[in-house]
This record gives sequence, C-alpha cells and structure tokens, in this order.
Amino acid sequence: MRAHLEAITDELRRWRTEGATQVFVDDQTLANLRALVEQQRGSVAGEPEETSRPEPVPQAEPSRRAARAEAKSAVQLRWDGQPIAPIPAPPALELPQGSKMEQMNWLRERVLACPVCNAHLRPGRKLVFGVGTPEAEIFFCGEGPGADEEQQGEPFVGPAGQLLTKIISVMGLSREKVYIGNVMKWRPEMPNDFGNREPSPEEVAFSLPFLRAQLDIVKPKVIVALGNTAVNALLGADPERKMKDLRGQWQKFDGVPLMFTYHPSYLLRNSALSVKRQVWEHMLLVMERVGMPISKKQRGFFLGKG
Ligand code: URA
Repeated sequence: MRAHLEAITDELRRWRTEGATQVFVDDQTLANLRALVEQQRGSVAGEPEETSRPEPVPQAEPSRRAARAEAKSAVQLRWDGQPIAPIPAPPALELPQGSKMEQMNWLRERVLACPVCNAHLRPGRKLVFGVGTPEAEIFFCGEGPGADEEQQGEPFVGPAGQLLTKIISVMGLSREKVYIGNVMKWRPEMPNDFGNREPSPEEVAFSLPFLRAQLDIVKPKVIVALGNTAVNALLGADPERKMKDLRGQWQKFDGVPLMFTYHPSYLLRNSALSVKRQVWEHMLLVMERVGMPISKKQRGFFLGKG
C-alpha cells in the first residue's frame, strides 16, 4: 500500500519535472485515493484506542521545501531492498582523434563498459547510449531511459518515444537523420517494478560528461532539451529559474543554440491543442534555425482545429 502511494507520489514529482502544473483526477480515482490514504492512516495509527492519550506537543509544520529535502536525502532503496550505491565523482573523458563515427563508437564502448553505470543497472536490462547520426544538425536530449528503453537499450522507444518519433517525422526528418540521447544512461533505480523517478543531482553530475562528449562529437546546430531534467542538466540547476519563461526561448549550451520544450510524455497526458501547438511552434523555430524548408501545411499544424 505504502509502495503504491510512494509510486504515485514519485510519478507526480516526475510529471512536474516534465512541465505539469495541474493533474486531472476523476471522481472515482479521487475516491479510491482517499480510501487508500485513510487505510494507510488507519494502519499507521493501528495501535489500540487510547483512553488518555497525552496532548501532543505542538510542532512547527515543516515547510514543503524541508520535507522535500528530507525525502531526497533519505536513503533510497532499489528493487531488491538494497540501498542505491553512492555515486562517485564524474568521470574525466578525453575524446580520441578520429572521425565522428570513430569517436562515437569509442564513447559508446566507454559507456557500455562503465562500471558505475553497470552497477546501477537492474539485471537483464540495458544501458541506453543514444541513436541517430553523429552528423545530425538537431540533437534531441531527454531525461533518461524508462522501462521500455532499458529493455531495448535504445532511447525514446516507449509511448513518449513514439510520440517524439512522430514529431520528428512531421518535421520532415527521421530518427536516423537526427541524434537522440538522454542525460542518464541507466534508468534510475526504483524500489518497485513500476514507475520512474527523477535522477538525483549526483546521478546527473556523473552522467553529464557522457552527454557532453556526445554533443562534442555531433556538434549539432541546435539542441532540443525535452523536459526540465534535460534543461537543468545542460544549463545548470537554478532554483530561481522559471521554466515557463524559458520554454520556446533560445538559450545556449557551450555556444550551441538550445530550445527547451515540453517532454513528450507531458503531451501524452495533456491533450490540449494549445500545448501541442506550443511544442510545434518550438519545433518550427528549430527548423528555421537549421535552415529547413517549412511548408504552409507544416506552419498551420494544430491551428484552428479546436
Ligand atoms: N523519456 C526520456 O526522457 N528518455 C527516454 O529515452 C525515454 C523516455
């Protein structure tokens, strides 16, 4: 029960990193959730009724920020009940001389053999390096593998990935003509079989040199950061940052223009035409920036249909 509630909470946190500010919950689900919480309270309080319980000493209500910090600093457990191994300092990488393809192959081998990455991998699952061409003009960067990706060892192959693939094809491109990577190369461990969690700052810091090296090799004309984790990893976390002001505005990562947009999994949950149009407008800006032709039909997608 507790595991289910924690999984729901983790998933809601993750949605927030993807840009969600509201969640629609139907009446039946709300009633079920209330029943779950009541049941949980009952089992926590599960001591016999007291006749003369001492008055509780009033405690200052912990702030939401303090509660979040406490939850984050608590030892996280993985699927087998073991604590998640500590994350060491980020690796130092120096790309060898060679063609882009040779460099990418070298880097892939480094990642796939990385002992730290492998130590965080669930048995039978795969690390997820990246796909596409090292000659790409556009580099799409997500957060990290989910269940489907760690099964197949390829980024963005689950439902959100299929939507990303569709967006790329509507742009007139294909997965083979762009590069698709993630901040994380392993799926952050969870105490359950289900759900995903946002990577910790240490996990992001450890994984960043691999992503930087991928970007160094590809040297794209534009980076598209999908969701908050990607943009925070690339621009550096800033508690003052207002995500809504950043979306659709050009930023720079090491001199490369960067467009920040919603993560496709946010689009899967928010079917509002206005959000789809926003993402599409961001993609039109990307296409303009790399000098792609844009048809009248492409300019008009998601306009006047709602
Ligand atoms: N979400 C991501 O951020 N990356 C993937 O590869 C899949 C889902």
